[in-house]
Amino acid sequence: MRTPIIAGNWKMNKNPEETQKFLDGVKGKLPDASKVETVIAAPAIDLSTLVAGAKGEPLKTAAENSYFEDAGAFTGETSPKALSEMGIDYVVIGHSERRQYFKETDEDINKKAKAIFRNNMLPIICCGETLEQREAGEAESWVAGQIKAALDGLTAEQVSSLVIAYEPIWAIGTGKTATADQAEEMCAHIRKTVASLYNEQTAENVRIQYGGSVKPANVKELMSKEDIDGGLVGGASMDPESFLALAHFQ
Ligand code: PGA
Repeated sequence: MRTPIIAGNWKMNKNPEETQKFLDGVKGKLPDASKVETVIAAPAIDLSTLVAGAKGEPLKTAAENSYFEDAGAFTGETSPKALSEMGIDYVVIGHSERRQYFKETDEDINKKAKAIFRNNMLPIICCGETLEQREAGEAESWVAGQIKAALDGLTAEQVSSLVIAYEPIWAIGTGKTATADQAEEMCAHIRKTVASLYNEQTAENVRIQYGGSVKPANVKELMSKEDIDGGLVGGASMDPESFLALAHFQ
C-alpha cells in the first residue's frame, strides 16, 4: 500500500517569520504520518525555521531545488549535502517553473536526482506537458520522455522510494485543474512507463502526485483515483487552515 503524500510548494513566498506563523498554525493538527505523509517545500532561506518547527511533528521538510554538486565554486547554488546535514527529507526537482525560467534540462534533473540520493534524501520529480502539447496529442510521449530521462541510471530500489509529481503546465496557478479523469489517465501512464523501464513491483511502489490548482474543494476527488497518491500544491498550501484541510482529505 502506498501512503498518500500531500506536499505544499510555497515557491518564492514567505520569509522565516511567516514560515514560523504557518508552523504555529498547523502544530499538533497534522494527520498521523502512517495515514498521510505531509511535506512542506519552502524557499532555502526558510529551511532552518522549517526544520526546527517540524521537529516532533508528523511533517516532512523539502527544499525546492538543489544543485548536483555537493560543494564548490557554484555561486548562488544550494548544496544537497548541506540540505541533508540540516535535516531536509525531500528536494523538489524539475518543476516547470525551473525548466522554463531557469532553463533546467532533463540531464540536469537526472544529475540532481542522483545527488539527492547520494545525500540520503528523496527527490520529488516534476513532469508535465504544455497546453499545445496536449492539444497536439503529444502529452503522453512527452511526459514518458521526461520520466525516462529523469530516472536514467537510478536503481529499482531508488525509484521505488521516490515521488513523481505530474503537473500539467496549463493547470499550474491558473485555477484550471485537470479533471480527475485527465489526471488519473496521465498518472496511470506514468506508472506504466515506470513498469516498462523497471518492473511491475517498482511501478506499484512509486508514489505519483498530481499538481495544478489542487485545493480543499477538489482534493478528495483527485485522491480517490487509483493512480493518484498525493498532491503537490502551490497556492492552497500557503495558509495553515487550507493546508490542514488538504492533509485531512480523508
Ligand atoms: P498551484 O501550483 O497549486 O498553485 O497550481 C502547483 C505547483 O506549481 O506545484
